[in-house]
Amino acid sequence: MTKLIRDEIQDDLLGRGYSRRQMMRAAMMFGGTAAALTLNPEIAFAQGPQKTRIQIGSNECWTGPMAPGLAAVASAAAQSNRYSPNDEHGQLVKTISKVENVPEDHIITWPGSNTALARSVLAYCSPTKGLVTADPTYETVGGAAKWLGAPVKAVPLKADYTHDVKAMLAANPNAGVYYVCNPNNPTGTMTPAAEIEWLVNNKPAGSMVVIDEAYIHWTTDYPGNSARHMAVAGKDVLIMRTFSKIFGMAGMRVGYTMGRPELLAKLRLHDAGALSGQLPIPSAACAVASLTDNASIAARRKMLMDNRAMTVDFLTKRGLKLIGPSEANMLMIDWKTKTSKEMQEAFRNQGVLIARVFPTWPTVSRISIGSKADMEGFFAAFNKVVSA
Ligand code: PLP
Repeated sequence: MTKLIRDEIQDDLLGRGYSRRQMMRAAMMFGGTAAALTLNPEIAFAQGPQKTRIQIGSNECWTGPMAPGLAAVASAAAQSNRYSPNDEHGQLVKTISKVENVPEDHIITWPGSNTALARSVLAYCSPTKGLVTADPTYETVGGAAKWLGAPVKAVPLKADYTHDVKAMLAANPNAGVYYVCNPNNPTGTMTPAAEIEWLVNNKPAGSMVVIDEAYIHWTTDYPGNSARHMAVAGKDVLIMRTFSKIFGMAGMRVGYTMGRPELLAKLRLHDAGALSGQLPIPSAACAVASLTDNASIAARRKMLMDNRAMTVDFLTKRGLKLIGPSEANMLMIDWKTKTSKEMQEAFRNQGVLIARVFPTWPTVSRISIGSKADMEGFFAAFNKVVSA
């Protein structure tokens, strides 16, 4: 790292009130340390026992990359003695721009969206400008803020399980980042666009509204319900996307952020020009080929909706309370008389991996929606676990 860049990073962090110790932690965040690894709760959890038969614990897709994506991987892998034989990275940005109708300079790609979430906290929070999240929600931003020593307020979801944006602003009227996961993980619920727009229009100057749309492709009203128009309109928003869900590419690590160019540049500051965000070309090529495979996207959406409806029907007929309505590839079940930890263990003994525990709701478990066969396997395990 050149002295010039190092000084710029130090000035940025010291200027925002970080101590030398916190600066060390910032430096460790993207360095493959234990801290970085624990930032992705789904990965940490998915590294479970290998003998599991049915994996419905990490909100992954039940199937792999789309066929044109796999063909592109093979071709790119064969040429990967070159850094960028066919401008794979440029092609990815161009394709995202076309599909999303967002200018190319409003897009930045990453090896997965978790790094972008953590970077948004590093770039826009500080010891005096905290993070506001919902409770429960996806934990990466909260984990990053705690690691860095930025204050965190976690505001309970409303009774309909949407984000309480007014309470979020009231919880810290001077925050650096307000995080809205839409649809929310773990509830799958959608917060209406008008609520998010209210937050964007009323938040303090200089802060960011980070809108995590990891699961947006599964929702009924997609693509009309995405907040991407606010990025194009130049608002203080960072829209986070991933290829880990509907595109079935969690292990390939591709994600992107949409926002004004100068907001995106700030997310890269701490790279020190090292291009750490450069993607492997097979992953980039797979993403390009998948983005425009509209037939597969439609087929996966339908399959998910069918399998989710089948699972809702199975569980509600057995008198279980579901939290929702979920628009994503997950459901939350309130067991009422059993803890989620006990149920996780009971299902694991049947070869079914369900999600980790969400401390706010100790009797509620999250399951991901998988293939029809996955869900039938879950039903069989359910019958054994519940009758026991
Ligand atoms: N955002 C949300 C809401 C998620 O649930 C996940 C992973 O499960 C991610 C981001 C991480 O995505 P990626 O695999 O792109 O890092």
